[in-house]
Amino acid sequence: MMNNQQKTDNSLLNYDYTVSCISKNEYILSYKEKYYKIGEFVYQILLEGKKANSLEDLVICLGNNAIITVASLKEIIDTKILPVFKSPETALKEQTGGFWMKRQILSSKNTAVLARPISFLFGSLFYPLFLILLFFNVWLYYKTSDSISNSSISQAYEILAWFVSYLSLFIIMFVHELGHAASAIKSGIKPRSIGLGFYTIMPAMYTDLTDIWRLSSNKKVKINLSGIFIQLIINILIVSIINLTDEDLVQSIASKIYFVNSLLIILNLVPFLKFDGYWILSDFFGIPNLIPQSDKMLMDAVTIKDPFDEEDNIKKTPLKQTVLTIYTVLRVLFIATTIFFVFAFIYSSFLKSIILIKYLPYLKLNFATTIEISKRIATIAVIVLFTRKYKKIFFNIILKKARWYKV
Ligand SMILES: [Zn+2]
Repeated sequence: MMNNQQKTDNSLLNYDYTVSCISKNEYILSYKEKYYKIGEFVYQILLEGKKANSLEDLVICLGNNAIITVASLKEIIDTKILPVFKSPETALKEQTGGFWMKRQILSSKNTAVLARPISFLFGSLFYPLFLILLFFNVWLYYKTSDSISNSSISQAYEILAWFVSYLSLFIIMFVHELGHAASAIKSGIKPRSIGLGFYTIMPAMYTDLTDIWRLSSNKKVKINLSGIFIQLIINILIVSIINLTDEDLVQSIASKIYFVNSLLIILNLVPFLKFDGYWILSDFFGIPNLIPQSDKMLMDAVTIKDPFDEEDNIKKTPLKQTVLTIYTVLRVLFIATTIFFVFAFIYSSFLKSIILIKYLPYLKLNFATTIEISKRIATIAVIVLFTRKYKKIFFNIILKKARWYKV
């Protein structure tokens, strides 16, 4: 019997992707070495979509799982699935917003060579060791906070010390990343590469651990804590140097590196920035997309609920719901505090600049005043740079908000 009916092409056949089910309700799409978390329905479409010759056949294959028309299936594929295949970079771009001069500094092979010798640190004793290191660091801080930062060196040496500690950032961040890589190796994952980029002048490094999705949450948490683990060891080494030397310059440099390293540890643990702490919290409670979910919770609080919202149908356990609520409240406080301090900083810089301009005719040009003038110029430059960069984001938020209220 002839089939005269015109069939709709299954465009999924044009793409070489794979889908896998890693646990109940957890589905992964991998395409061109990138992984995407997908829902069960999209998973079914992609799974059957590899075999069906037309969308009509695909609808029949899906028959047992969902009742759907060819037209609506086509719409889902065209608007939700194909954009991922067509521009796999978009997902990455969003993640690396504001990141510049991003480049690979260590290949997969060399990362493994350098990381393997320290991978023994990330065995079964990791968590007790981590706790010991953490308590030892806090104890050392209270024990030695007097000897830290009481050195008396000239202002020129002071600048030199800050410059050296800025350079030390690169080394600290590098061994931090090696910690992630070594821990990944211990968990049976191959680290791909280590890269470097900059947020304005602030360096930032990352380890490509694309294959981490295959691991259990427990192992993910461990790998994400491993960078900080290394930094806790560095702090102990630095405090030893401070206590062992009498040299003022060395002490001053070591104190500043100690300060920089400790600040990085704290920043890394803040779960409201997309650093290690964010992923640790997200994996520990099994809540993916913590920030988007928290955004949604906020939006739901100020807008009328969309009756066609799919996400509302996914049931969250009471624990997850509580964690998400606390997270959202604290995040609002964190953002509000940050905004307050940013404006306070801009205001005080503005006042200081006004005073400087007022007294400029009476100023004697010496080393100290040159430093003061350079500091003011640098601060204003940073403020202008940030305003230019975040102006767009700021207005986008306002525009988006206006749209919520309209809906
Ligand atoms: Zn890290």
